[in-house]
Amino acid sequence: MDIVIIPGDGIGPETMQVSVELLQKADAMFGLGLNMTHEIAGHDSLRLHGATVTQRLLDQVKAADGLLLGPMATYDFKDEAKGEINPSKFFRKNLDLYANIRPAKTYTGIKTLTGPFDLVVVRENTEGFYADRNMALGHSEILVTDDVAISMRRITRVCCERIARSAFELARLRQKRLTLVHKANVLRITDGLFLQACADVGQDFPDVAVDDFIVDAMMAHVVRAPEKFDVIVTTNMFGDILSDLTAELSGSLGLGGSLNAGAHHAMGQAAHGSAPDIAGRNIANPFSQVLSAAMLLAWHASRRDKPHFWAASQAMEKAVSDCVAAGECTRDIGGQLGTRETGQALCRRLQSAA
Ligand code: ATP
Repeated sequence: MDIVIIPGDGIGPETMQVSVELLQKADAMFGLGLNMTHEIAGHDSLRLHGATVTQRLLDQVKAADGLLLGPMATYDFKDEAKGEINPSKFFRKNLDLYANIRPAKTYTGIKTLTGPFDLVVVRENTEGFYADRNMALGHSEILVTDDVAISMRRITRVCCERIARSAFELARLRQKRLTLVHKANVLRITDGLFLQACADVGQDFPDVAVDDFIVDAMMAHVVRAPEKFDVIVTTNMFGDILSDLTAELSGSLGLGGSLNAGAHHAMGQAAHGSAPDIAGRNIANPFSQVLSAAMLLAWHASRRDKPHFWAASQAMEKAVSDCVAAGECTRDIGGQLGTRETGQALCRRLQSAA
């Protein structure tokens, strides 16, 4: 499997280093034949190539089997004309990575505000309110006067149907329960279209039980009783917000692994941002990036019918759970180890997990 590795900004280099070491270990143990190519994007690329991402890099990623992208300093990249392109958006848009899969579950060993739960947020990734990606040309945020600004949200049947199908397929592999999250009481046309598309796709999945919640009420429900949910599907921005909440409910944003998947490509990228406040201090939690890497291996396993990739992915997840249970983790989830030391513990646990 050819994987392009891009460490990203902020805490990215630290958490990606741990992920790479664990992948090397998994490669040796499971005979994966990984070929990891190290590239740059974001601030490093801006300094070296005059742009945060390049066409050459995109071509290289397209030719590979998968991408691991570290967190990017999205807020710093404001002017595309100066090469400041948001790399996360760039890959999601150009590789058409329409499904952002964000699991969240509790772990033995981490004290949380709720009881145990295990759910997945499936977030549409290519349209919605995201001004930098929902137009073929131009930008969907407009300054009409200095005091008047407009933001437009694009919702299409094709994007709703394909994200709904991803969510139904995932629900079928899990507890066969799917929750639709929307604001169709106010956004009657756009979220009405989303609900209708989900209902249409649902015809093919009579074995999956479906319910739906208005997004604001959903925030209360998921905090009160997250165990009631299995798979949750929603539009882009609602999914972005909801999945940070569910990651934090599970113990920390640093547990938020995530996969961005399309029909032909996939990118593992932690759900959180570049966390500049803790960068370079060896305290960032590497589990989110490690779990994203495990999800990339699982995606490859199902796409190419390669069970040893699935076994490696499961073993990486188990290594994370075992580390957490033993308190071999970073401070954000109650441990005392640094990022590097957590990586060493993960490699030891992986050895015994197989
Ligand atoms: P960005 O501008 O790139 O989105 P941000 O700091 O605004 O960065 P996040 O990176 O999502 O947003 O982080 C929010 C907070 O969560 C951070 O301040 C950090 O303390 C914490 N955090 C995020 N990721 C981790 C992690 N992997 N380990 C520990 N803490 C984290």
